[in-house]
Amino acid sequence: MSRYTVFVPEPIAPAGMDLLGQHCDIIAPWQTRQPTGEIPLEADAALVRIYRVNAERMEAAPNLRVVAKHGVGLDNIDIPSASARQIAVLWTPEANAEGVAQHAIALMLALTNKIKEADTGVRTGRFDERMAWGSIEISERTLGIIGLGRIGRRTAHKAALGLGMNVLAYDPYVDRSSYDGPAVFIDELDELLRQADVVTLHVPLTDETRHIIDEQSIAHMRPESYLINTARGAAVDEKVLAEALSAGQLAGAAIDVFAQEPPDPAHPLQNAPNALLTPHVAGLSDRALVRVATEAAKGILDVLQGRHPCSPVNPEIFPLQPR
Ligand code: NAD
Repeated sequence: MSRYTVFVPEPIAPAGMDLLGQHCDIIAPWQTRQPTGEIPLEADAALVRIYRVNAERMEAAPNLRVVAKHGVGLDNIDIPSASARQIAVLWTPEANAEGVAQHAIALMLALTNKIKEADTGVRTGRFDERMAWGSIEISERTLGIIGLGRIGRRTAHKAALGLGMNVLAYDPYVDRSSYDGPAVFIDELDELLRQADVVTLHVPLTDETRHIIDEQSIAHMRPESYLINTARGAAVDEKVLAEALSAGQLAGAAIDVFAQEPPDPAHPLQNAPNALLTPHVAGLSDRALVRVATEAAKGILDVLQGRHPCSPVNPEIFPLQPR
């Protein structure tokens, strides 16, 4: 069987490289500290993280048959142009869901147990002030999930079955008859915001979800409640959130994603009280990195070797025409 050529412009887990290497020659400029450059002329496939795959680059790579996204955000790939050129686009939608759900739970516990403040207290010689850092018990308190998809469902499961929380979910697009998990659907977002002790966002960024948490929605939340965002930064009006934290309108917020990444050093949340910030790491768990790389690599091999891949983004172009 002939060997293929795969372009891997950004680092991926060794397991993915090993799988590709069994059948393909790999062009990976980062391995030799070379500049990334364009998709090579001879590439049959590309496995990309945030590398931009636009129409011009595809046009300049006449052998390209498949582009696999390492993860879920597809905004760096011109899918209509790929489809028009009979180039399969693949993604790995399940691969990091578990890690993101775990991070949402970790952020919730860090907030309710005041881990950051207590740690700082010990390190700054204020051990005796520990009464200030007692936890909020979350068992039988209410978690409000906005967006009950792959990550939202896992988060609901962990919160309800692992921590004994009541879980409410707002998601107008989900087919309720096919859901048999512990979350209880609620029709109005405002009502979820009013009832929840902790609100966690698991929506994609769309016109509808941009600033879904804004001044009005924060006004519905109780001052003792917490907000967690591991979805997309622009789902929250960050300036309004920072002001709400400063004004004591919320007890705290944990944020993994920012409208602009990395955030400016003068970003309003940098100095907001009771804000816990992580650098878009929710999807970077050890197993997720292996899963994402191997699923993307396997999808590439499936397409190149004539099998139907598991997660095509443009299934309408299959079966691919021979070239
Ligand atoms: P998904 O598509 O499985 O679920 C999203 C859910 O949101 C769907 O059920 C959908 O019906 C719902 N939804 C859409 N619009 C809504 C609205 N206006 N109101 C309420 N619900 C709405 O996606 P997923 O795999 O669960 O991922 C969710 C998001 O998490 C992704 O879009 C991505 O932005 C983010 N994410 C972040 C990281 C990270 O590292 N922080 C990693 C992976 C994904």
